[in-house]
Amino acid sequence: MSVWKNANQEINMNNRKFLLSDSEKPTHWYNIVADMPHKPRPPLHPKTKQPIAPEDLAPLFPADLIRQETSTERYIEIPDEVQDIYTIWRPSPLYRARGLEKALDAPVRIYYKYEGGSPSGSHKPNTAVPQAYYNKQEAVKKITTETGAGQWGTALAFACAQFGIECEVYMVRISFDQKPYRKIMMNTFGADVYPSPSDRTQAGRDILAADPDSSGSLGIAISEAIEKALQDESHKYALGSVLNHVLLHQTVIGQEAIKQMEMAGDYPDVIIAPMGGGSNFAGISFPFVGRNITEGQKTRCIAVEPASCPKLTRGEFLYDHGDTAGYTPLLPMYTLGHNFSPAAIHAGGLRYHGASVLCSQLLKDGLVEAVALQQLECFQAGITFARREGIIAAPEATHAIAQVIREANRAREEGREKTILFNLCGHGFVDMKAYEDYFAGRLADHQFTGEELKAGLADIRSLQP
Ligand SMILES: *Cc1c(COP(=O)(O)O)cnc(C)c1O
Repeated sequence: MSVWKNANQEINMNNRKFLLSDSEKPTHWYNIVADMPHKPRPPLHPKTKQPIAPEDLAPLFPADLIRQETSTERYIEIPDEVQDIYTIWRPSPLYRARGLEKALDAPVRIYYKYEGGSPSGSHKPNTAVPQAYYNKQEAVKKITTETGAGQWGTALAFACAQFGIECEVYMVRISFDQKPYRKIMMNTFGADVYPSPSDRTQAGRDILAADPDSSGSLGIAISEAIEKALQDESHKYALGSVLNHVLLHQTVIGQEAIKQMEMAGDYPDVIIAPMGGGSNFAGISFPFVGRNITEGQKTRCIAVEPASCPKLTRGEFLYDHGDTAGYTPLLPMYTLGHNFSPAAIHAGGLRYHGASVLCSQLLKDGLVEAVALQQLECFQAGITFARREGIIAAPEATHAIAQVIREANRAREEGREKTILFNLCGHGFVDMKAYEDYFAGRLADHQFTGEELKAGLADIRSLQP
């Protein structure tokens, strides 16, 4: 067995899987705000254009989550009750992708963190559980939320079931129709699920009046869930990505990965993750970005977005709403405009018009990178991966795999060794329709046009402070 040397450490060439014991698991979430050279700009009240006060968010979120949203503390302790539930799927395994490496025949070592073993099959329960926990502390009776592909709704339904909280989910119409089994999963965990736009809210009724056949969007579903939460004091709202506290909770992924890479005797040159709102990318990369900033490490962190919804690579850094109806505060982020309606690609979790404030600021400061990929290349990569590694990836996760293959090809061309770590953020067992459509030749690449972009951004120029 050959042994490659890296930073005077012996690389473990025998293991295919790296597992942490219970005593090695992270005890705190990592808050990158503490280490950011430029702190994120504040969210603004849409009417006054002044920074919002914590009280402004109180109708929607419990106080502990609002504190985390604005915290500048480096580490925040994970409550025991949350740790106990995390135990169901955490620490998650780190795999060495030997099968894929062999297929690529490039001078790369590829590792991936697998988040598909969770109750919903993705990274989403990492934040759903603490969010439900803090709501329970305030005796909240019901949590409303949106879901795109259904991953977040499933995760929150599970978390609410753990704490005896009711859960009401607004599911983007196109996914509701494309992924009926996701709805049944949410029902099984005890949630009520409605296709969005619905006639249950003013925001939904307005959209339906203008377009009765609307296939919906995450922005619309968020508006509906927020409107419902505001109607009853004992109800609150939860978001599955974008916000600082969501990204914070996901950092268990990267902190575990740091220890597992140590077990492997290796350290990543490149980290890759798909980009929807930014939570799984942040989860795996922020602990490493923190080391880049504080310890001078040089890991490149690459967010991969779909070419049909390219906010990081084609959007602008502007203040924008997080939802379509304009209920949320204005957030400083890379955006395509909150009225932008992305093409109906199968990577439903990546069809969001904006990127989280933290990811946006880090990209602006050159501390992370972004690329946009077409869906056919991604599905092809997902199929190669399934055959070599035995895991069928969620369509979102195939975006990371495709970029891994690009990095490996580049390493071969340049004749340079490279260690790659990526986030396999979810399995695709409920996305077989997407694979079916791919095999049947029904999927096409999407050319994003300057016209779409101009129209989307024109709508939000007037929102700038
Ligand atoms: C929700 C989801 C995403 C996109 O959301 P992020 O907040 O960017 O992580 C990506 N992959 C899967 C499997 C998801 O469920």
